[in-house]
Amino acid sequence: MDDRLNHEQKMFSKTNWEFTKKIVEGNFESQVSPILTLDVSKKCNFHCNHCVDQETVNKDNLEIDWGILKQLLVDLKMQGCSCVELTGGGEPTTYTHFKDLIKLLSLLQYRIALISNGSNLHKYCDDIINAPFDWIRISLDSSNAHTHSVVHGCSLNVFKSITDSVKKIAKYKTVGISFLILPNNYKEIYNCAKYVKELNVKYIEVKPELNFKDREITQIDDKIKEEIKKQINKIKNELCDDTFSIIYPSSINYSQMNQEKKYTICEACYYRTVLTPSGIYPCSYFRGLTDGTEIPTSWENMVKIRNSEINKINPSKQCKHFCARNKINECINILCRIKKYAPEFIDYLGWPIDYGNDIEWM
Ligand code: SF4
Ligand code: SF4
Repeated sequence: MDDRLNHEQKMFSKTNWEFTKKIVEGNFESQVSPILTLDVSKKCNFHCNHCVDQETVNKDNLEIDWGILKQLLVDLKMQGCSCVELTGGGEPTTYTHFKDLIKLLSLLQYRIALISNGSNLHKYCDDIINAPFDWIRISLDSSNAHTHSVVHGCSLNVFKSITDSVKKIAKYKTVGISFLILPNNYKEIYNCAKYVKELNVKYIEVKPELNFKDREITQIDDKIKEEIKKQINKIKNELCDDTFSIIYPSSINYSQMNQEKKYTICEACYYRTVLTPSGIYPCSYFRGLTDGTEIPTSWENMVKIRNSEINKINPSKQCKHFCARNKINECINILCRIKKYAPEFIDYLGWPIDYGNDIEWM
């Protein structure tokens, strides 16, 4: 299985190790996060019933002001932020200044990632191929045009446009496909994997559906669980090789409903700042669940708002659900103890580790 979801391992990567050390030394609250999760737009051209952001998509504050964003990106780069993930809460490619944004991120030599529904890829294929994208992940959630149009509330011809663009981009960049398991697509996981492998896609990420109200995993019946397991094993046995893999979170077995946490501050949140048209959220999970904030106009302001939003969340009370970043917090705890009792050990182990650019994002 691919290591893309092994978040705690990525604390030791070349992108994150310096920041990890700052956390362990208690010297991180004035630093910008190494990664910026950037929701540039809350607009979306699809109408997915499963959308976890359905209460905020296409609502107020649709886009981040381009003038403010430009300045922030310049400042953040100078302060040590090196990776920008263009992602959800809407479809990033609907941003009015999407092309300019890619140009600026390239000019500033950021490493970039994109999570998209793929519908506008045909407009930006060349821009994406020529920019420093580490990876691109497209939510396809289907193996054919019919299921795709039903799942995403879009027209039948969009599937072909997406897969044509994916094929073109995958010649040059790491492209992954995500597959959210739903009642109307769960029989197609294997077929989707088989189809996208032929497009040179590097991996399929299979995920359980989350309820948009509380972000808990939506439960399914045992027969469907068995069917999913069967297809995942078939993908592993018949399709996975050096060129293609399957990834999935441990919650894929639908049994990990609760995950009690003992810590009262989430240090994992400091690795990424989540900036959206409604301001900053402590992490993507709380996007749209907390009030949002003003849009920061300087990096200092951004760090201050980030810290304040993180401090408002007490994971032992507010994060009882499964969280993939829980292991980062547990690992930080262990590192802090090592630092206290055997500080020389921290530098002794030869970190950082080079996992390869496209998988070291945490
Ligand atoms: S494509 Fe994404 S943001 Fe748009 S409606 Fe679907 S799930 Fe929501
Ligand atoms: S533990 Fe809570 S605050 Fe931390 S990343 Fe997970 S959901 Fe967010």
